[in-house]
Amino acid sequence: MSLKETIAWAKEKKVAIGHFNVSDSEGFRAVVEGAKELGVPVIIGVSEGEREFIGVQEVASLVKIAKENGHPIFLNADHTYSVDKAKVAIDAGFDAVIIDGANKSYEENVAMTKEVVAYAKAQSREVLVEAELGFIGQSSKIIDTVPDGVSEETQTKPEEAARFVMETGVDLFAPSVGNVHGLVKSGQPKLNIERIKAISEAVNIPLVLHGGSGIADPDFVSAIEAGIRIIHINTELRVAYKEGVEEGLKSGELAPYKFMQEAVKEMEQVVKERLKLFNRM
Ligand SMILES: [Zn+2]
Repeated sequence: MSLKETIAWAKEKKVAIGHFNVSDSEGFRAVVEGAKELGVPVIIGVSEGEREFIGVQEVASLVKIAKENGHPIFLNADHTYSVDKAKVAIDAGFDAVIIDGANKSYEENVAMTKEVVAYAKAQSREVLVEAELGFIGQSSKIIDTVPDGVSEETQTKPEEAARFVMETGVDLFAPSVGNVHGLVKSGQPKLNIERIKAISEAVNIPLVLHGGSGIADPDFVSAIEAGIRIIHINTELRVAYKEGVEEGLKSGELAPYKFMQEAVKEMEQVVKERLKLFNRM
């Protein structure tokens, strides 16, 4: 199944596909093993920085091999801030790309998104394009409080979303609905479920929830019911990775494949917990 078909399957089953960011082969292994164990599809996300670290071609090859082994694994170029970098990812064989013009003017956001959509559609294979409208913040760190600029007032409005999707022709849409990038220490982000429903009806394409780390479980379930088909988890995985590395180093082991084991295990744990929730298992 292609990513598009997998998203249609998720809609039918009323579940969401987990999207996990990785920076290296350890993160990659944790996500793939976790998804394999549960037998569910999964999306590997790599931001511009993560892509630079792991290598655009390298991560594309890892996903290609995993796919050939028969597991539904897809690769997404997470938050891509330029048309050029989106094209590089598409050329490398990514299944999807997020063109992020959320910080630009509406007109600029539409123009750059349209350019990427045209490029994706011109490919002989299927490439999905996602875009976002509204403020979600840009951090993948642990932040003290919900940042300024995240309020009901700044959340995506259904009519604006509908217009944006129509004008750009994107396949997937990431709204701002109370979600925030990063992991918030105090004041858990609360999702606006009614807004998700209204946007879902207005745009009539699958919705993607960014900033999934730290959102309460019942909110996820309601969000999936309301039309969310892909959920992004990044910061939680980074926390698990770092804690696992710290734990592994305590052993005094010199062999990376030994002292890194704990990190992979802890990341895999996070992946499995989230996938179980998103897939209603
Ligand atoms: Zn994001």
